[in-house]
Amino acid sequence: MEREPQDFGRVLSSMCTKPHPDARAAADRFLASNPGDPTTYPAVADLEREVVATLGEITGLSDPHGYVASGGTEANLQAVRAARNRSDADAPNVVAPESVHFSFRKAADVLGVELRLAPVDADRRADPAAVRRLADPDTALVVGVAGTTEYGRVDPIPDLAAVAEEVGALVHVDAAWGGFALPFTDRDWNFADAPVDTMTIDPHKLGRAPVPAGGFLAREQAVVDGLAVDTPYLDSASQASLTGTRSGAGVAGARAALDALWPDGYRRNYERGLANAEWLADALESRGYDVIEPVLPLVAADVPAATVESLRAEGWRVSPTGAGELRVVCMPHVTREMLEAFVADLDAA
Ligand SMILES: *Cc1c(COP(=O)(O)O)cnc(C)c1O
Repeated sequence: MEREPQDFGRVLSSMCTKPHPDARAAADRFLASNPGDPTTYPAVADLEREVVATLGEITGLSDPHGYVASGGTEANLQAVRAARNRSDADAPNVVAPESVHFSFRKAADVLGVELRLAPVDADRRADPAAVRRLADPDTALVVGVAGTTEYGRVDPIPDLAAVAEEVGALVHVDAAWGGFALPFTDRDWNFADAPVDTMTIDPHKLGRAPVPAGGFLAREQAVVDGLAVDTPYLDSASQASLTGTRSGAGVAGARAALDALWPDGYRRNYERGLANAEWLADALESRGYDVIEPVLPLVAADVPAATVESLRAEGWRVSPTGAGELRVVCMPHVTREMLEAFVADLDAA
């Protein structure tokens, strides 16, 4: 096979990025190890425990439980599953802001729970009062997003946790994308900032691990145990992950990326990404476009669809938000030079 993978040189709207070189090498070595069978593959199981420990450090949890999932979708689904299984409501529901990732729609469908979406505030963050209006004693889970996929907004997690407490629900924070940037901000988003029960944080996005490496974290082991099923033909007695055979490459790659980058490398990525986002926001604003100010390294702006189309024709990989704005995610592979070339093409468009 002679085909080449997509080059990252013009990729501007993806939340994937170039893995760290150490992560690539580690992924290659552990390609055939299955962390889903830890008794047969103890070396990769050790690496997974180390990944979970470091993800705990990043998210303010001293004794973390959880595992390396296939991505944010699986981790979010597992959070909904854990909450549903714990609930004694006949028809449990999940309340989330409408800015929540579409993986929750899949989770609700697969798990047969009702997903209630609350309107967001003027800054596109969850509105705790609106969430409260939709929550009731049958609410199994309240979801907050720490770094929304479309606009990079951080929901008021402590206020959402207070709503959850009022109705006796669990609290899940989806930091799939934002989790590797937020430790370097003064936001309240993590396990130490609020009584959060579970969290999604994906090493394969800003963590620079190879795909597939998502993170599902829980404050209590009981939550993970609640997801476990018996595994009659494996040596290990039970399995909490949704998938069976899993990627040793994702686990080992995540371990190597964390080792190389936490915390200083991630801090540099964040600072550089945010500076690039602010630069791009200024460049777009000075050209007369309406810009949604970046909070994290992500810019959205009201650029006409026809202009975006001609940028795509130039090879720029840009995808719009649901509302049609141009959206640029300043991932680690996105350099200032790339953004300058992009703006030059925008001027020419
Ligand atoms: C990307 C993303 C997800 C989904 O993660 P996958 O790894 O693509 O499954 C979930 N939540 C948020 C906030 C995301 O940005």
